[in-house]
Amino acid sequence: MSDLLEEIILKGAPISGEIAIGTLFFLEGFSDEIVPEFSIPVAEVEKEIGRYRRAVLSSREDLHDLQLFLAKEGSTEAVSIIDTHIQMLEDPFMTTFIEKKIRLQMKNTETIFRSVMNDYEKEFSKVQDSFFRQRLLDVKDLSQRILRNLHPRKALQTEEIPQNSIIFTKELVPSSTAEASKGQVKGFITEIGGITSHAALIARSKGIPYVANISTDTLYPHKGSKVIIDGQSGSVIVNPKEHTLEKYQKQYEEGLKKMHSTVEEDGEGTTTIDGVKIDLLANIENLSDLDLLIPYNAEGIGLFRSEFLFFGKELQNFAEEDQFILYQKIMHKAQGMPVVFRTFDVGGDKGNINQYEPEPNPALGCRGIRFLLRNKEIFVHQLRALLRVSTDGDLRILLPMISDVAELLQAKELIQEAALELRSEGHEIADEIPIGCMIEVPSAVMVSDHIARECDFLSIGTNDLVQYTLAADRATQEVYLFYKAYHPSILRMIKRVIEEASRVDIPVSLCGEMASDPLMAPLLIGLGVRKLSCSPRFIPKLRKMISTLSLPKVEEVTKEVMKLENADQIETVLKEIFGTILLTDE
Ligand code: PEP
Ligand code: MG
Repeated sequence: MSDLLEEIILKGAPISGEIAIGTLFFLEGFSDEIVPEFSIPVAEVEKEIGRYRRAVLSSREDLHDLQLFLAKEGSTEAVSIIDTHIQMLEDPFMTTFIEKKIRLQMKNTETIFRSVMNDYEKEFSKVQDSFFRQRLLDVKDLSQRILRNLHPRKALQTEEIPQNSIIFTKELVPSSTAEASKGQVKGFITEIGGITSHAALIARSKGIPYVANISTDTLYPHKGSKVIIDGQSGSVIVNPKEHTLEKYQKQYEEGLKKMHSTVEEDGEGTTTIDGVKIDLLANIENLSDLDLLIPYNAEGIGLFRSEFLFFGKELQNFAEEDQFILYQKIMHKAQGMPVVFRTFDVGGDKGNINQYEPEPNPALGCRGIRFLLRNKEIFVHQLRALLRVSTDGDLRILLPMISDVAELLQAKELIQEAALELRSEGHEIADEIPIGCMIEVPSAVMVSDHIARECDFLSIGTNDLVQYTLAADRATQEVYLFYKAYHPSILRMIKRVIEEASRVDIPVSLCGEMASDPLMAPLLIGLGVRKLSCSPRFIPKLRKMISTLSLPKVEEVTKEVMKLENADQIETVLKEIFGTILLTDE
């Protein structure tokens, strides 16, 4: 079909990735939105300042959410770029300056903010240095975010971007790159953009092909056309002819194969050399990640973080019917594999949904199951939607942040009630739906015997378990030295949970970031873990490590490691014994 149209070959600058094939989608760049400008009476000044502070707070929450999303994707470089945005946002000089100006000039916040930002941008653009030009983009990006929160207007919702889009735009800001989901955005083309731009770094860390130096005016008339981009040579081919398409399609598939070769060699699951089977499952946050299950040979979804499905939406308005449709898609894509679906884990570092009542210490606040049991309507809507897809595959329900067996019992009661109600309405519900608990709070470890007796499986969430055990905020850079996953206390807790679960014969999986660390795998297996759930991209490395291990060897090492006193010693010993296996992998 495309042979009827003229094939256009453009040459740009290669920035990231390899081949991407998709449809050209134009993304509006920075439009100098008309910001309403008006004076305010003295009595309104404090209210205006309050609006500004709330916008900064919401922007910070957005950025934290974004960081979390990127961390889960394994895009560490992107996480640190967003960190610089947070630092800029929290710059006390800037906040005080704006507040002072609102008081002095008595104009609405948008006007003051925009004028300060314009001055800032003017100063930055005078500097020729490319590093400073990148900072200018960051400033623009951040200022757009604050303005959006100050003056809500229709921003491009990521779900408005069609699947398989190749986005073209004048200049790419880091946040659009970071928010791009791989299913929707196959590649980027920009007019301006350098190899060291933050957007480029983020695209690379997400593995998205990107070509710069292509004029948007040239591409604009071809919106919606098929396009191929080659992030290595910098070529952009609009309306490719059939044979061109075939050639690049082949190249694209070969690239994919190379990437997944380690897993594709053996589709039989993962075992140690002496035949101990270890289930490698995927942590999933969005629909497009479901496409990674098969290429990475994940044996199911070990953790579906359902709260990410409403990223940027109001949870209260996330109706049962909408959820049902989404969950159906998930079950369908899982093709009968187990789907451990965690009910909404809101609060804490994932953001408070009630923006007007910020908690002084959100990590210790109304988070996870506490929120759900307090907001039963939201919980029950989600449960009903989930139960309605229980016959579409192997659904299991996981409850977040359980700290006491009573919470589990209350949740089970709600699940039973919802099931009864649905049956009486004529819906078909599976006879048995396993209910599990996240073990991520130290109290849950200490009463894991009680919890294990009352549920069907446990899932150890080491991200939070480390945070709560070592009293080190998982999202605060300053205390990261205290946030020690290798700490003996954590290992003892894992051991205890496994022992309690095996006493009543229920399975345990480990789904925190620790599960993706190949050095940790021998130790976890030695402790008795048989199910690891992590971001799919880590599966090949884990698999490689596990296939070199034998149970007697890891049990012997584990016994010795459990005698060590601190995290550094543990890490050193593991590196000494198993580190070389990783080197041969590179
Ligand atoms: C954890 O806490 O380890 C976990 C897997 O949950 P999340 O990272 O979503 O809090
Ligand atoms: Mg957690």
